[in-house]
Amino acid sequence: MRAEIIAIGTELLMGQIANTNAQYLSRGLADIGIGVYYHTVVGDNVGRMKEALAVAKGRAELIVCTGGLGPTQDDLTKDVLAEVLGRQLVVHQPSMDTMTAFFARRGIEMVQSNARQALMLEGSDPLPNETGLAVGNAVTVDGTHYVVLPGPPREMKPMFDNQVKPWLESKYPGIAPLHSVMLKFAGIGESTLEHRLLDLIQQQDDPTIAPYAKEGEVAIRLTTRAATATEADGKLEPLLGEIRSRLGEFIYAEEDVTLEEQVVKKLTACGKRLAVAESCTGGQLSDLLTAVSGSSEAFSGGVICYTNDVKKTVLGVPTELFEGPEAPGAVSEAVAAELAERVLRLCGTDYGIGITGVAGPSELEGKPVGLIYVGVAERGGTTEVVRLELGGNRPTVKLRASKRALYELWKRLKSSC
Ligand code: ATP
Repeated sequence: MRAEIIAIGTELLMGQIANTNAQYLSRGLADIGIGVYYHTVVGDNVGRMKEALAVAKGRAELIVCTGGLGPTQDDLTKDVLAEVLGRQLVVHQPSMDTMTAFFARRGIEMVQSNARQALMLEGSDPLPNETGLAVGNAVTVDGTHYVVLPGPPREMKPMFDNQVKPWLESKYPGIAPLHSVMLKFAGIGESTLEHRLLDLIQQQDDPTIAPYAKEGEVAIRLTTRAATATEADGKLEPLLGEIRSRLGEFIYAEEDVTLEEQVVKKLTACGKRLAVAESCTGGQLSDLLTAVSGSSEAFSGGVICYTNDVKKTVLGVPTELFEGPEAPGAVSEAVAAELAERVLRLCGTDYGIGITGVAGPSELEGKPVGLIYVGVAERGGTTEVVRLELGGNRPTVKLRASKRALYELWKRLKSSC
């Protein structure tokens, strides 16, 4: 069963608002097992709206329209549908009564155009508006189901959840809902991940595999259709097992959580605390960590040691590491290790992270943009430093370095607590 969402409104096309209704409706339809095949956006124009409806009718059995139900002249959705479907528009009396009472209560005259909001397609099921004035509609014509919803999300969402979902379930009894699992990866690039799963991606059928990439993190969503969670698990598990066996070391979660949330959760569960010394990331790692609610259970704080002076005076990194012909310099394995160990001692934590590198756009100490060292120190344990060569502009390098530091700590936590 194919569904298409048609969002109506010139302001969507002009980029003045984002089409969040389509996102909400797609998710909601997937939850009840209806696959959305197309999103269309069309302006408030009769000809183009008719065209969009004709195209949708040719490729979908369910067409959900949102927007254009208001009182003004550019709110045309119901008029166009009435013409396309050869139906009259008739008054939905309960909506008209609600509207009349609404204006009377406020002492405002109800102009004729407002009455348009109480119109519905003849022979359709009305969808009364719990949070606004315009009535929605649902109707089946020649085997195609049409649902008409208001544009404002605060009106559209409750109408969809409370009325459209049950209406659709009555039309499609027994449809199997979609179930999905999100796998979150760190420490591996999107293209490498795709390459390692290429055969599975190319052969995908049921479950499907959809990759997603955000800066510094990669995710894939596995989706299947099944009547029960147990049946879905049975279908998802073989594919999950195969992906785990190929890329398990990079999977930090099998749910939709961020790496920083996962690190804070793991530290808290282990009763351990972290401090960070950030040079080139300038506090971004601390920002990521403190964005997680409850992070004070695990994150103590740290030092933004952007200059060598702060590295020396606040953290006590030896001057010899910065000065002299043989000195490794601020961007070095030795300094990353010192930062991690010294901030751990300064803050009295169990783990310390030190980050030093070149965020760009210019090189530093003759070292290239994107060269980063991340040190992870553990109280009573060893200190390890990784050398990274990251691509991207300055903000991207800072974010990727921060995420990579979280990943290095997460690997350590996985094996040691
Ligand atoms: P109104 O009675 O407010 O005119 P309407 O049903 O005619 O309602 P529109 O005029 O198309 O809806 O849109 C009203 C407002 O709803 C827009 O300004 C916008 O803020 C929001 N909106 C409309 N369509 C969408 C959409 N697809 N996604 C997100 N918001 C939307």
